[in-house]
Amino acid sequence: MKIAVIGTGYVGLATAAGLAEFGHTVVGADKDAAKIADICRGKTPIYEPGLDEIVTKNISAGKLAFTADVDKTIRDADVIFVCVGTPQDENGRADMSQIEDVSRTIARNLNGYKVVVEKSTVPVKTSDWIKRIITLYRKDETPFDVASNPEFLREGAAVSDFLNPDRIIIGVESEKAREMMVRIYAGFSDRIMVTNIDTAELIKHASNSFLAMKISYINMIADLCDKTHADVEQVALGMGLDPRIGRQFLKAGLGYGGSCFPKDVKALMNIGGDLGVNMGLLHETDKINRERIGRFLEKIRKALWILKGKKIAVLGLAFKPQTDDIREASSAVIIGHLVREGALLRLYDPKAMDNMKAVFPESPGIAYCEDACQAAEDANALLVVTEWEEFRSLDLARVKKNMANPILIDGRNLYDPAAVRAQGFEYYSIGRK
Ligand code: NAD
Repeated sequence: MKIAVIGTGYVGLATAAGLAEFGHTVVGADKDAAKIADICRGKTPIYEPGLDEIVTKNISAGKLAFTADVDKTIRDADVIFVCVGTPQDENGRADMSQIEDVSRTIARNLNGYKVVVEKSTVPVKTSDWIKRIITLYRKDETPFDVASNPEFLREGAAVSDFLNPDRIIIGVESEKAREMMVRIYAGFSDRIMVTNIDTAELIKHASNSFLAMKISYINMIADLCDKTHADVEQVALGMGLDPRIGRQFLKAGLGYGGSCFPKDVKALMNIGGDLGVNMGLLHETDKINRERIGRFLEKIRKALWILKGKKIAVLGLAFKPQTDDIREASSAVIIGHLVREGALLRLYDPKAMDNMKAVFPESPGIAYCEDACQAAEDANALLVVTEWEEFRSLDLARVKKNMANPILIDGRNLYDPAAVRAQGFEYYSIGRK
């Protein structure tokens, strides 16, 4: 089977390289010619552990290729994985224009039976629209099927997640499409769930929104801990010991960010709203998440009083560790507030500084630093915004020596409060005394 992957962003690149790794012949196509040129030169445009290696390896083995010729890639393929973006529009709905665009391109190039696979995260019922667009724009009656195969990979672990998935959800409505999709994932027959397309589409949104809800839930409990003597880390541990609850995604902090959870929660809220379903639980999930920044700024003001002219070191810009992605990152919102209030910022992130420079260029109020210690130089406070492992093992004694005032405001509960205070820091964290 010849496989096309349309859109070579975070998901498309991992999908193309992963499917090649499974032994298929794959062509990744993107309309962004500069991105394709970079990939062909062996320079993937994103930081993702292990990705460069499997891309290079499979290109050399002749199993993987990349091109900006989307039309030809579609014509040559039996199965087309659609991995384009579905960002949030101004009303909080999923902007489906990239999906519609690709659907028209597929219709124009439909030269034989093909399975069109929705890999992007899309609202339930999107497959009906894709079918309608292809049917309207195809030149003749050439048959095709649409399938849903939502992607569950996590940025920062995209390669290992793709190569070793917990589950593979396949939504189909024809036996032929089912057989082809199951064949693609032949090595994972124990993990495949085949269902109808609406169900597969909804599994993805329902999963992401549930995980987001868990994060907002523990953050709501953290607010309660801030007002009492309870410790949110201990509460989460005690809750998580119950296997019905589980320990994952019970981490209080600055809330969820990134290109998926915020938009997927809002998209599901809107899908439900449009269909007359009460989505109140998700409205609260989103509201609690948005309140995180305000709560963090309150802590900063409580520690520093006036922010104008204060030097503040910010550790962590990526929306989470192990990625350079800053889409919907708390850091960007926090930096925006601090800059408006006249603070002088010293920023550091192991991977995401180039991306952040495009949003907040270097200026008299914003300096990018080479490491955490340099960021701390002469700072009146140090903020931890992303939980990179290197911050967890920071030499705090050295950091403190560099600072004007030893004030540490930890948005990710990285440190043990007693240990940090014993080193002479004034320490603020989330839901703990
Ligand atoms: P992205 O923005 O990084 O990549 C999308 C790519 O599609 C871009 O390179 C863009 O140039 C290309 N593109 C857009 N229109 C095109 C067209 N008509 N023809 C060819 N190429 C086109 O997006 P992403 O983060 O990879 O996400 C893609 C989808 O996967 C989204 O629906 C997202 O919600 C979903 N998803 C993302 C993740 C994640 O961790 N990023 C995880 C699971 C699912």
